[in-house]
Amino acid sequence: MNSIPASYQAIPSVDRVLGWPEFADLLRDYGRLPTTACLRDELAQLREALSRQAPLQGAAAGDRAGDRQALLDAVHARLQRLFAPRLLPVFNLSGTVLHTNLGRALLADEAADAMRLAALRPVNLEYDIARGRRGDRDELVEPLVERITGAPACTVVNNNAAAVLLVLNTLGLRKEGVISRGELIEIGGAFRIPDIMARAGVKLHEIGTTNRTHAADYERAIGPRCGLVMRTHTSNYVVQGFTASVATAELAQIAHRHGVPLFEDLGSGTLVDLSRWGLPKEPTVQESLRAGVDVVSFSGDKLLGGPQAGIIVGSRELIARIKKNPLKRALRVDKSTLAALEATLRLYLDPDRLAQRLPTLRLLSRPLPAICDAAQALAQALTAPLQGQFDVTLVDCHSMIGSGAQPVAQLPSAGVALQPLTKRGAGARLAALEAALRALPVPVIGRVADDALILDCRMLEAPHELCEQLAALRELLPKAKAP
Ligand SMILES: *Cc1c(COP(=O)(O)O)cnc(C)c1O
Repeated sequence: MNSIPASYQAIPSVDRVLGWPEFADLLRDYGRLPTTACLRDELAQLREALSRQAPLQGAAAGDRAGDRQALLDAVHARLQRLFAPRLLPVFNLSGTVLHTNLGRALLADEAADAMRLAALRPVNLEYDIARGRRGDRDELVEPLVERITGAPACTVVNNNAAAVLLVLNTLGLRKEGVISRGELIEIGGAFRIPDIMARAGVKLHEIGTTNRTHAADYERAIGPRCGLVMRTHTSNYVVQGFTASVATAELAQIAHRHGVPLFEDLGSGTLVDLSRWGLPKEPTVQESLRAGVDVVSFSGDKLLGGPQAGIIVGSRELIARIKKNPLKRALRVDKSTLAALEATLRLYLDPDRLAQRLPTLRLLSRPLPAICDAAQALAQALTAPLQGQFDVTLVDCHSMIGSGAQPVAQLPSAGVALQPLTKRGAGARLAALEAALRALPVPVIGRVADDALILDCRMLEAPHELCEQLAALRELLPKAKAP
């Protein structure tokens, strides 16, 4: 900050300062309006500082060369803060690949290119080029979804939470939604099935128990007021032990016998059998449809590896009803989402190359030796800056898929463990280390476990990009006390 001037009179006026030749560069680089605003803020702060203390004897008069430079620097710093981007790249070494707080799926190049194109050029978002008239934005992805999943129709909304709301409201408004007590889930961000049902105007009819629900429970519950039967993929926890649930195919038969549709919220909803890449099996959209589910909803940016979106697939008749719901208009996606989704779905046409081209799958199926190499490079680069403060060791660890997919599945991985050399004050030291890593130009996010900071290297595909900035780490750490 500036030194405090001697008096109010010593604080120069905005107009006078803007005329100083030193300010010409700021005006040119940042523009007149923001530069003037930041200057006003700075001068106001000086006035305030002055009001809080007695005038200083012979302090800065505000117009000498040194004062001018101090004021210039202060305004420049304000402008830099104002124009600094808030959405920043980070290194996700948390071990959670689809980390909701860190943006979930990384898009394929093809998807990012398509988004850029849609952003910069007029596109046929809702325009039928062959006929020269208004089209339907869902038709951009419908043929791909149909080919990949076999679903006759599809529609896309903002995210899967929106998809669930829209489907429930369309099929169950002022009717009952029958669902097992074992599936009344809450997922991150305060999304709870009972709440969302209420907001959708559906009367919750919960049946069975937390651990066991039988066919007879459904049979008894489906009455004349029933609008739909709902099934949710309990994606973020498991019920183990004395459990029972009704297989999806049987549940579909029960629903159909009573003339009501079965809706499944599949959560992550993958389009390929992940066990092909040695990953734990997640239920696929195709399996749900084959089992007779009438409407399936799933996320675009979880295991699918695309943009944030909620994809709803099902019969032509039901999807048509869903699309006619006025809420659909409020929940629809924009052109960049559809562009990225279309490009991502196209990659699924060739599953043989999917693991190379889709970053989510590439990272989830990354071979352990490659992860170990990255960990080794990182450990080496950390040794010098952390010398005398932290133990740097290579460790075996486990990554998680994240975003509610396979909550208990652990993917063998490798990382670097950073442990304070002394037990005393270890907690504070770890916190300081985490803060220092977050203060790097590209912040590094790890996870604390067992008195150590673990940096899981599954997602570290270009270690040199991280290692290059580690020289700055020592300056960011509090100085170690002499022993
Ligand atoms: C993640 C998830 C949702 C919400 O999906 P978003 O795309 O994050 O809105 C809904 N249901 C289940 C079962 C989920 O796992």
